[in-house]
Amino acid sequence: MQEKIYVSESMIGRGVFAKRPLKPRELIFYMNGKLIDFEKSIAHMGEYSVQIGAHSYVDPISPARYLNHSCAPNAGFVDDISLIALRPIVPGEEIRFDYSTTMLERHWELDCSCGAADCRRRIQDFDLLPYDLQQHYLELGVVQSFILEEVAALKTKAA
Ligand SMILES: [Zn+2]
Repeated sequence: MQEKIYVSESMIGRGVFAKRPLKPRELIFYMNGKLIDFEKSIAHMGEYSVQIGAHSYVDPISPARYLNHSCAPNAGFVDDISLIALRPIVPGEEIRFDYSTTMLERHWELDCSCGAADCRRRIQDFDLLPYDLQQHYLELGVVQSFILEEVAALKTKAA
């Protein structure tokens, strides 16, 4: 898979870049790493951890470790761990996903200055995104399955 990407310096620390053109929906790589629970996530590596369950996180190894956030992402995770392109990506372009598509924890937020025209200025949990944006990501299939389950459960409770 590494013929598709490389890790290099970006404007905000290290980032992941396309080595060759990537097509929409093309698999870029699988996220790999150690499974850790919420408490351990706080204790170490909080900043790199990717949430994959209500209380479980992956402490990803490279390259997933160096994926930066964008409010207008060109990639996203399907099936929880498969990073795919969401639009054509050209060689040398940084590959980023929207961190909110893997967040539902009420624990961590971050100011954002990703440079997107419609930057939200703050990275927050998925259910705090504008409704239309939630729908957009749901249609693309790039929302972690534990979030789908929790959002469905909340709707059932509210009904
Ligand atoms: Zn942003």
